[in-house]
This record gives sequence, structure tokens and C-alpha cells, in this order.
Amino acid sequence: MAKLKLALYWSATCGGCDVAVLDTNEKILDIAEIADIVFWPIAMDFKRHHVESMEDKSIDVCLFNGSVRNSEQEDIAKLLRAKSKTMVAFGACACFGGIPALGNFTDRAGIFERAYIEAPSNDNLGKTLPQTLTQVAEGELDLPEFFDTVLTLAQVVDVEYFLPGCPPPVDLILKVVDALATGQLPPVGSVIALDKTLCDECPRIKEEKSISKIYRPHEIIPDDKKCLLEQGIICCGPATRGGCGARCIKANMPCRGCFGPPAGVVDQGAKLVSAIASIYNAVSEEEVSRMVEEIVDPAGTFYRFGLADSLLKRKRLEPSEGA
Ligand code: SF4
Ligand code: SF4
Ligand code: SF4
Repeated sequence: MAKLKLALYWSATCGGCDVAVLDTNEKILDIAEIADIVFWPIAMDFKRHHVESMEDKSIDVCLFNGSVRNSEQEDIAKLLRAKSKTMVAFGACACFGGIPALGNFTDRAGIFERAYIEAPSNDNLGKTLPQTLTQVAEGELDLPEFFDTVLTLAQVVDVEYFLPGCPPPVDLILKVVDALATGQLPPVGSVIALDKTLCDECPRIKEEKSISKIYRPHEIIPDDKKCLLEQGIICCGPATRGGCGARCIKANMPCRGCFGPPAGVVDQGAKLVSAIASIYNAVSEEEVSRMVEEIVDPAGTFYRFGLADSLLKRKRLEPSEGA
């Protein structure tokens, strides 16, 4: 059987998704058995022109990690889409925007102001900001355009499969590889995980208890047998797709939502607000206000991985601003 042609790309990413591929350890040899890697910038010295010279649809599968935050990433997503038969959004950033999409709570100007002017480590008295075009003696230098809005991969190109997680767990990566090798692929549009919520696969005891105080993880040593949310720790399990094997819960830490919303849920953050509000034991407005205050960084908590893919998507831009 001819080997699959496989491409891997990192866009707006931390690199953890590429490390997850390496975490397959000796199983990476199984991947090498069935696939030739034709593009993988983090690990191999391929250049963009190598991809440009490939026939359209000559790559069997592209595993694309990271969200899309600048024009270069958008161009390469489109290039890889043209060259690939199957596009997989690999990891929470590609699927839902992920951590980079928290930048959608501000905009390009706000990010540049913080990164290049306000940050205490800067030495930038001239307040120089990155430009897409700069004239120098040798000619013109160009940089990719930094977008106001971080996008998911599917907001830029068509995507066949979604493999969630920050990063995706090794067993699910191998499941995808196995499906590709055997041709037993799920329907296009599938999320390679469970349809139900993490709570459904969580082994902890649920007592249908209400809560009257919210704790941050460092403020309490939770009972490792009982539901964390019912102990007052914000756990995203009720609004998060199962399939990771409850890996954070097994480490006695709450779920942070990296598998995105379960099937049928449009907005993970709204679902989580609803789930938490339903177990609040607060009888007065003061108590409700106190408990709301106890959630530090609610926007970042409820939309940690999913802002770009949520109904909110981003903070409202003024009409004169870009998108
Ligand atoms: S999904 Fe997580 S591990 Fe992967 S690139 Fe995004 S932040 Fe990194
Ligand atoms: S809220 Fe968290 S700890 Fe509780 S059952 Fe759901 S996943 Fe488990
Ligand atoms: S428990 Fe939640 S945050 Fe942790 S890996 Fe699973 S889905 Fe992601």
C-alpha cells in the first residue's frame, strides 16, 4: 500500500501540539510506517516553496495546530488546504481559537500598546510599533499583518475533522492515525472525542449538592473522590466534551475546558455559566454578588479555550476598526 503523505503545521501556537505528536514515543515509528512526512516546520527543513510546488490535493492529511492570528498564517492555511485532501484542526487552538483567542478581548492596538510600550521590560522611548512595510537602505521589509481578531482554522478554510485538547491526548492522536491508515474515517465534520460531557465520564461522586462559596484551586485541598464543582471549585466538566479520560480530574485538578463544548452546545461559556448558576445556594442579592465576585477572571474562566468559536467571538470593535 502506498504511504500516506502527511503534513503538520503550527500556526498561532505554543508548540505543545507538536510535542504531543512526539509524545507518541515509539508509536511514532508506526506513524512513519504508514506515512511520509512532507512538511513539518518545527522538525524538518521544508520551506514554503516546497509546498507551493506540490500538486493540489497531493497531501493526504494535514494536521494543523494553532489558531490564525496573522496574514501569513491565513495564507499558509489556504495553501495547505489547496494541497491537502483532508484537513484536521489539531488541538484546542485550531478547533476553537484556544488561549491565543483570549486576545479577542482586546484588539491589535491594545495588544501592541501592552507588548511594545507598557510592558516593564521594554526600552522603547520612541514608541515604535511593528509595521507591515518598512523602508530600509537595502529595500522594503515586510511583516505579516497582525489581525484584530484571532480565528479558528474552520473560520479560514474548510476542515474535515476536529481533534480537540490542549494538547490532544496521545491515544486520540493514534486513533486518528489508525483511522487514516485503515481508511475507516468518521463522517466529515466529526470531532474525534465523545459526544457527551466530561461529567459523564468523570469517576467522581456527584451528590447533587449546591454550593455557597467558590474556591480557587490553591485555596482548598479537595476530596479526591467527590465532584470538584460540588466542593466549590470551578470545573468546566458540565460544559466540556468528554474523551480526554478526565486527565486533569485524575490529578485532582478541575477541568479547564480544553475539549470545547459537547455535541449540541453552541456556546461553552454560556453553558458553563448556566451549570454553575444552577447549583448556587444564594438567597439574597448580596450573596449572589459575593459569589460572582469570587470567580476571578470570569471571561477567561468561561471562555479560556473557546472565545473565537463562541457567540461572543470578540469584544465589539468600533466601526473604524478592522476585523
Ligand atoms: S492547543 Fe494547547 S498545546 Fe496546542 S498549541 Fe494550543 S495552547 Fe499549545
Ligand atoms: S464537574 Fe468536574 S469534578 Fe464534577 S463530575 Fe463534572 S467533571 Fe467531574
Ligand atoms: S479534564 Fe478538561 S482541561 Fe483537562 S484535558 Fe480533559 S477536557 Fe482538557
